[in-house]
Amino acid sequence: MRVLLVEDDEHVADALCAALRQQGHDIVSAPTAAKALASLDGCELVLLDLGLPDLDGIEVCKRMRARTSVPIIVLTARTDEIDKVLGLHAGADDYVVKPYSVHELRARMEAVTRRSCRCGVGPGGHDPSCGATAQEIVTAGPLSLDLRSRDVTLDGLPVQLTRKEFELLAMLMEQPDTVHTREAIIARVWDENWFGSTRTLDVHIGALRQKLGSYEWIETTRGVGFRLGTPPAA
Ligand code: CA
Repeated sequence: MRVLLVEDDEHVADALCAALRQQGHDIVSAPTAAKALASLDGCELVLLDLGLPDLDGIEVCKRMRARTSVPIIVLTARTDEIDKVLGLHAGADDYVVKPYSVHELRARMEAVTRRSCRCGVGPGGHDPSCGATAQEIVTAGPLSLDLRSRDVTLDGLPVQLTRKEFELLAMLMEQPDTVHTREAIIARVWDENWFGSTRTLDVHIGALRQKLGSYEWIETTRGVGFRLGTPPAA
């Protein structure tokens, strides 16, 4: 797959490039934000270092997300940047904290591309081999979610969600009566091998509630998990 690698550290970039090429990927290397934004078209996955010389990586992430739904994995040396990326709706799909292993990065890349294919609207459009069905719309009152096109509407108006927020909402809406455990949500929305902080889940729940305009769309079952709620009619 065609991967855009945004990394200003030449040594890191060279090593990563070599490893990814060995895995059969086609790499477009960008040492600056300007080059990265100019090279985005046609790329199927973005690996984005946050510490860039010309523009903050979080801003780069937002600008990319405004243009495309391509999966973005953030590469960061600082754990305190993660909440910024996730909490400010910058739109990254996942992240790895340096130092990371090539094996870990590969697992994350596979996970984000698998997820983007699940709904048929991944990089490169619909992949007929992924088995997504044609008609998959789930609704809850005024809220409607199309698993295939990934469109979410509330009272007929579009709601812009990040990929993870979408997955999270889809899981809750598909089984509205079920309390989904934190573990089950993390396994589906992130990855079975997730080992990061479960705070990430709370950040996403908070962002989703905010975008849906009511805290009550998602009920918290203390100590267990979450399920779809019903806000009072406006
Ligand atoms: Ca850097």
